[in-house]
Amino acid sequence: MTKACAIALAGNPNAGKTTVFNALTGARQHVGNYPGITVERKVGTAKAGDTELRITDLPGTYSLTAYSQEELVARRVLIEEKPDAVINVVNAGVLERNLYLTVQLLEIGVPLVVSLNMMDEAKRQGLTINVKRLSELLGAPVIETVARTGRGVEETALAAARLADKRKGEKLPLVISYGPDLDPVIAEMAEMLGQAGFSDADYAPRWLAIKYLEGDAEVMDMIRGRDQGLAERLGQMAERVADHCQKTLGTYPEALIADYRYGFISSILKQDVVQLNRIDRVALSDRIDTVLTHKLLGPAAMLGILYAIYQFTFVVGDIPMGWMADFFSWLGDVAGAALPEGHLRSLVVSGVIDGVGGVLSFVPLIAIIFLIISFLEDSGYMARIAYMLDRLFRMFGLHGCSVMPFIVSGGIAGGCAVPGVMAARTLRSRREKLATVLTAPFMTCGAKLPVFLMLVAIFFPDNQAQAMFLVTLAAWLIALLVAKLLRSTVISGPSTPFVMELPPYRLPTLRGMCIHTWERTWHFIKRATTVVLPISILLWAAMTYPGLPESDVEQFETARTQIEAQVAEAETLGDEDLVAGFEDALAEVEAEEAMAALKNSLAGRFGVALEGVTKWAGYEWRTNIALAAGFAAKEVIVSTLGTAYSLGETDPEEAEPLMERLKNEPGWTMAKGVSLILFTMLYAPCFMTVFTIRQESGSWGWAVFSMVFNTALAFAAAVTAYQILS
Ligand code: GDP
Ligand code: MG
Repeated sequence: MTKACAIALAGNPNAGKTTVFNALTGARQHVGNYPGITVERKVGTAKAGDTELRITDLPGTYSLTAYSQEELVARRVLIEEKPDAVINVVNAGVLERNLYLTVQLLEIGVPLVVSLNMMDEAKRQGLTINVKRLSELLGAPVIETVARTGRGVEETALAAARLADKRKGEKLPLVISYGPDLDPVIAEMAEMLGQAGFSDADYAPRWLAIKYLEGDAEVMDMIRGRDQGLAERLGQMAERVADHCQKTLGTYPEALIADYRYGFISSILKQDVVQLNRIDRVALSDRIDTVLTHKLLGPAAMLGILYAIYQFTFVVGDIPMGWMADFFSWLGDVAGAALPEGHLRSLVVSGVIDGVGGVLSFVPLIAIIFLIISFLEDSGYMARIAYMLDRLFRMFGLHGCSVMPFIVSGGIAGGCAVPGVMAARTLRSRREKLATVLTAPFMTCGAKLPVFLMLVAIFFPDNQAQAMFLVTLAAWLIALLVAKLLRSTVISGPSTPFVMELPPYRLPTLRGMCIHTWERTWHFIKRATTVVLPISILLWAAMTYPGLPESDVEQFETARTQIEAQVAEAETLGDEDLVAGFEDALAEVEAEEAMAALKNSLAGRFGVALEGVTKWAGYEWRTNIALAAGFAAKEVIVSTLGTAYSLGETDPEEAEPLMERLKNEPGWTMAKGVSLILFTMLYAPCFMTVFTIRQESGSWGWAVFSMVFNTALAFAAAVTAYQILS
């Protein structure tokens, strides 16, 4: 008979949890979200002997305090879902720091198996670890693993299944001494909690008492919710002991608790658990870092690397881009020829193929950018970028933790502001978080990317890479300046300290990079079809209806019949030049009619109404339509321009790609290009992002602020650029 067993994987970020998870579950996994929040939840199944394991990959955390969403989620799963066993993946190379979480897991008392991971790297660094000793001292099985090759992973799963079977859910909390000042208070508080009925809860009284002294907001709220009187008494005790610690030791209980935990760890490690066998301790990573994170060389290398990325992308990406553009214009021709003239043809050619095709043509380029980003992330260089930028960010009132939200939002290119804004959760200061959330959407997200790529290709065809590089720099510069502005006015306040560690450099695996690239590219394609397609069709309708009034149609009809008669006459005369001339005139009338119809449509009227204002930035009504539509999703700007400028085309034979069309369009000058790039970069975030800002900032006020402020800023920048350049 098979048994079932729930296993949770816990560990520091980058310890190799996901790699262990993948090695164990293979394809039997799925990804969802934790209820109510957007922290990713990965669940999969595996077999260990005759036991069926159901494995959850917890978010990576350094601690189990209630500071961040990730920590809260990990803790809730451990305490409330009560997994039958927990596999704690630790990085053997930095054992001391990793054990900080291990100790907290042991304090909760869950059945724990330690997977001593990255043993290959630890050995390369010259570390020998006495596994048996470590296991005895921790009171938990410890198994050496190299998750990347799968070594030891199965054994770990078997150990977890065995332990789960043995413990049957029983919790055996580790008791650490927190010293003569805190121990008696913890004991007394635990006693009170036990008597008040907390002993039968999921949370052990002693653990609750320690959390109370650590100032854990969630635990404090929970106790207050169940027993107001008890909460008051505990509060007084906590205050008294904090006061006492401050007077006698010059520190506060939370710091004291951390000190004792580290003390516990170092007492374990001192007992011949870890040995360093090599004198040459400067590991390869450190040697690389003497250059790559050097005060001057580091930033220079960073700019060089980013610049090289753009060069590479454009040189390589240009080729498949051409294929895609050709493919969609061919598809448009085929559909145009197959369908009878009328609204259906217009819908398919202008609404669907030109709209969606305009966005999908960028897939190859975007895939290349994603591939490079995966390389930066997997190699460990991304963390160095964050590390180096911390100093810079500080000057602008942001925080080292703001770097990731910027990069996720598209700081290098091709992110998304929705997860970017969410990534700001790691910021503990509300003010710094707000400043981050409000400025991250200036980055070049995957949706703005096609807009920029197109404009750059039109106006700077010979310097595309340089231009994109400048666009990226401009986005950062403006984001930082706006952050500085906000932090000196509406959200002023002190900055908070930041510590960050750098994972060792690794050569990324091709498979890992391909998976990452595929996931992101697929996300982009899905958006292009699920979000862009319906919007594209809706906009097509707004640009088609209500059409021209009868009288105008008749006027055009008369003009057309006249010319047609002239054509026929010229044909009988056999004068080919004359025929061609009349045919051109005919095409002109038809284009004029289409244009008049577009202008009279719902969207056209809206665009025209805005012209009085937007002419200062160089935009006529068709650009206005596209920009307004971009609020739904920025890539729609390209598809809307595609539709707006193809509605004038009556003859599918002559349809040319949007880029060519705009290049030849009067009014599309370099000044307008720059103005459009600036406007697109800065104006109101798309509505999904606005919604996320509302969620993360906790109020509609900031969400509305971001729309109004950003659009005003964008318009000011666009007008300035346009007026100077033209
Ligand atoms: P997580 O953040 O804990 O989920 O960590 P990941 O599973 O994403 O792993 C982080 C990085 O470490 C990846 O690049 C893995 O390929 C790499 N990695 C994981 N396990 C090992 C290992 O045992 N040895 C080595 N050398 N690299 C590993
Ligand atoms: Mg992971």
